[in-house]
Amino acid sequence: MSPSFIENRALILKRLEEAHESLGPDALKRDITLVAVSKQQPDVRIDEALAAGQRVFGENRVQEAFTRWAARREAYPDLELRLIGPLQTNKAKDAVALFDVIETLDREKLAGALKKAMDETGRSPRLYVQVNTGDEAQKAGLGVDEVEAFVAKMRTEYGLTIEGLMCIPPVEEPASLHFALLAKLAKACGVEKLSMGMSGDYDVAAKLGATSVRVGSALFGERAKPE
Ligand SMILES: *Cc1c(COP(=O)(O)O)cnc(C)c1O
Repeated sequence: MSPSFIENRALILKRLEEAHESLGPDALKRDITLVAVSKQQPDVRIDEALAAGQRVFGENRVQEAFTRWAARREAYPDLELRLIGPLQTNKAKDAVALFDVIETLDREKLAGALKKAMDETGRSPRLYVQVNTGDEAQKAGLGVDEVEAFVAKMRTEYGLTIEGLMCIPPVEEPASLHFALLAKLAKACGVEKLSMGMSGDYDVAAKLGATSVRVGSALFGERAKPE
């Protein structure tokens, strides 16, 4: 039998703690939120996660997230849902209605749509700016050089507070370089939170200042094949 969600979760929480301990007694250690990435997972696994006490979940598609969470949201008022996938402007209102955190703000047009949706719905999800730390053509996110000005502009022109930065490092490079870069950028922008680290490298991210890690397969087991 494959390990259960409960066992996987306990192991990950332990490894996060060990990552912090390895930094020594004087290092700055920030609380880390374990975001369970539930995309493409079957209902039985979702319910197992909820039964285990997991309350923070990440999804990368708005419609799929609605299907999975609309009813469960009623049953679990302390749920926190995070959007970690690309957001189209025409889905901004749906995203604002469902999510507590949107981690993939990466352009002004989307900021405008989110601001409008927030004014209309009275909801204000916390916002992260996605940074394309590897400057990969096919990947979403702002270029490294653009982040500081963008974050400032969110404040001054859109009245939006940016809570954190998020990145997905290129698969073929050491993630640590990208995590360190994201931490440095956040400092330069005066931004508090860092969403970085996935199943393969959450411990590395923890050592470099992550305040949340987004873990899917190491928690739930492999996802069903997309498409
Ligand atoms: C799917 C996904 C994850 C989780 O990936 P795992 O390798 O299964 O942990 C994390 N972040 C983003 C943005 C994702 O799309």
